[in-house]
Amino acid sequence: MDDRQPALFSNTASGDSATAAELVARVVFNCPPFQPFDYLVPADMVESIAVGKRVLVPLGRRSKPITGYCVELFPRSPRPADVEAATPDAAERSFQLKPIARVVDEEPLLTPVLLRLTRWMADYYLCSWGQVLDAIVPAGAKEQSGTRVRVFVEPTPPDERPDPLPRLTPRQTRVWSLLQQQSRRIEVSELARSARCGPAVVLALVRKGLARRSLQRTEQFQPPPSELSFPELVQLNADQNQALWEIEGGLRSGGFRPFLLHGVTGSGKTEVYLKAIEATVQQGKEAIVLVPEISLTPQTISRFRGRFPHVAVLHSHLGDAERGWYWRQIAAGRMQVVVGARSAIFAPTKNLGLIVVDEEHETSFKQETTPRYHARDVAVMRAQMEGVPVVLGSATPSLESWHNARRGQYRLLSLPKRVLDLPLPHVHLIDLRHEPVRHGRFRGISPTLEQAIGQALDQGGQVILLLNRRGFSTFVCCPSCGYVVKCRFCDVTLTYHSQRSIAMCHYCGHEQQLPGQCPECRQSRICYFGYGTEKLEAEVSVKFPGVAAERMDSDTMRRPGRYAEVLDAFRRGEVRILLGTQMIAKGLDFPNVTLVGVINADLALFIPDFRSAERTFQLVAQVAGRTGRGPQGGRVLVQTFNPEQPCIQLAAAHNYEAFAESELTNRRDHAYPPFARLARVILRSRDRSAAAEAAGRLAGCFGAAARDVPNPGSPVRILGPAEAPLFRLKNYYRYHFQVQSESSAALHQAIRSALARFLRPRNVDVVVDIDPVSVL
Ligand code: ADP
Ligand code: ZN
Repeated sequence: MDDRQPALFSNTASGDSATAAELVARVVFNCPPFQPFDYLVPADMVESIAVGKRVLVPLGRRSKPITGYCVELFPRSPRPADVEAATPDAAERSFQLKPIARVVDEEPLLTPVLLRLTRWMADYYLCSWGQVLDAIVPAGAKEQSGTRVRVFVEPTPPDERPDPLPRLTPRQTRVWSLLQQQSRRIEVSELARSARCGPAVVLALVRKGLARRSLQRTEQFQPPPSELSFPELVQLNADQNQALWEIEGGLRSGGFRPFLLHGVTGSGKTEVYLKAIEATVQQGKEAIVLVPEISLTPQTISRFRGRFPHVAVLHSHLGDAERGWYWRQIAAGRMQVVVGARSAIFAPTKNLGLIVVDEEHETSFKQETTPRYHARDVAVMRAQMEGVPVVLGSATPSLESWHNARRGQYRLLSLPKRVLDLPLPHVHLIDLRHEPVRHGRFRGISPTLEQAIGQALDQGGQVILLLNRRGFSTFVCCPSCGYVVKCRFCDVTLTYHSQRSIAMCHYCGHEQQLPGQCPECRQSRICYFGYGTEKLEAEVSVKFPGVAAERMDSDTMRRPGRYAEVLDAFRRGEVRILLGTQMIAKGLDFPNVTLVGVINADLALFIPDFRSAERTFQLVAQVAGRTGRGPQGGRVLVQTFNPEQPCIQLAAAHNYEAFAESELTNRRDHAYPPFARLARVILRSRDRSAAAEAAGRLAGCFGAAARDVPNPGSPVRILGPAEAPLFRLKNYYRYHFQVQSESSAALHQAIRSALARFLRPRNVDVVVDIDPVSVL
């Protein structure tokens, strides 16, 4: 070791071993190469640098410095003895550190827990720390959107002024005498205005030593006015009280406590959350509440804003200024409750006390771009790191969470009954195979359903009709030769949208005009098949002329605010029939809805996805929950060609437990989650043979990785390469691997070591999806 000393010292910038320990910053980046690098903190930045701030640093051969995140600060080993512990390599490197060029942020963008959480995400979701950090800090926080820096001046104290006084121009003299009359500092622009000159004249005084300049950042965004109301106090029922009592116990004792709140639709789960949040706020702590984006309705928001004066609402329509403002308010500890979609789990709270994930089974909590995280799972991890309770709530919990509750990982809280002893609605299955056909054919609405709708309307009720497929016709083809109109970029048939008279790909958004004649055989006119919400809307207007109906799907709800408008009209009774996709299946609470019709319960049933039964159960159970919430009661009619399917039968019987038990047995038999961990590795390229070739080589890498790391305790199963079910998507050819193992560590190890061996061609992308929710 000793013989290294001279070399090491000769490499230091000063060559002086007596100086105080210099500071080293570890920095991560959102671009390749993705590993962290260390930089020297120059003496003039020691005050301003902090973990969680961004820095500009030189990297590789880039001509300009690039932005990275400072994730760690440590003293540079003052004596070589300290270097011994590190590898010789690291020691060598640490003595050739390049300095940081600039510290970008005034305040750290992230709290220490968020740094740990994002580091865990990078490890778990197999991406880089820099990618995660860059994705979770909103632009509005990085750019300080919505703030303005104001420049002030004040006279230099007399004893610090230059002597003799410098010569001034006539305009400078005017400004100088104005400035001397000021008792406080004044904004440069204001002073310039009253002196009727430009700001340059004011700043000249600063240059000449007569005035001092200071900066102040101010907020421009105006928060919405308080909505505090005094809602009628709800008396919790016994089940709600029991659930609340347990959560409050967790709040009092402190520490990580995961709860699964399983409460049937309309059982008052939100009321329990609100009370638990009250208890949190009384402790002087903050709560984060995650809800699916679609549930962030004005009604939901009012429920929170009505009870708490300081509620941050984070949704995808926020502008940068607004989002930045909330981020800073949260970081300053001025918000009591943060309500938001997926990304709200990264709110930089000061003193977090509770996390709630409502509708925890929702697939929208999974992000489908890097970092491909699941906000529910991140929420549980954050709660663990913060040492606080987390409540996952649902009427139809994900089987993952249910399994965790069954084996005691989560404490199960149950609300088995609706509030006020309202009964769950009666669900009747309509077997479409035996439904009588009147006047030729029915299209979407069977005679039984039609009659029920008529009756509900006659009795003054309102109706919800669910069809989880948008558009008019779901495929378009030639009846003579069988030619089907497909997307130019995806292996998907195009859906005809009659309102806009175009055919559209629901995967990539490609739109095109339809040919009148079949372009292949030129024999026939193109025909329209399949049934979407547009066609349902047309059928409703024919069958119930003059009845106000609204369609709610992603086509009609493009404009922000439209969703709220339609729901308001429905609440006021101006709209009698609400029809649409899964958007209308969830969360809505309208006491006057006396009938729910499911046009086709089978749509999700035969998608090649191991969760298809779970999705079908959830959708039917959730939409059934939209009725029977008022004194008139309600009923549900479910149209299906598969009435014997257990998931449909058990949803009709409101029997979640039985469904979960039978489905868990299936999952165990096939080693699917929650009994095994699952990951997908997708290779995609615009060049089909490049994708195929790369997939073959990656298969070899998986094989070699398995031989090198024999792990008989928890074997890793690799399925593939296979063409992905959607082989061509957005003009990419896609091959995938499914990686399964009972051990998360073994699964990660297998993928890591296979990818480390894999030489990725430039024209092939690799996507790793841990715990995928979509397997298409
Ligand atoms: P969930 O979230 O389980 O669907 P909510 O909390 O939204 O249920 O409650 C449904 C409706 O019942 C709301 O209008 C709510 O104000 C009301 N409610 C909740 N708890 C009670 C209660 N204990 N007594 C009376 N009404 C209640
Ligand atoms: Zn497409």
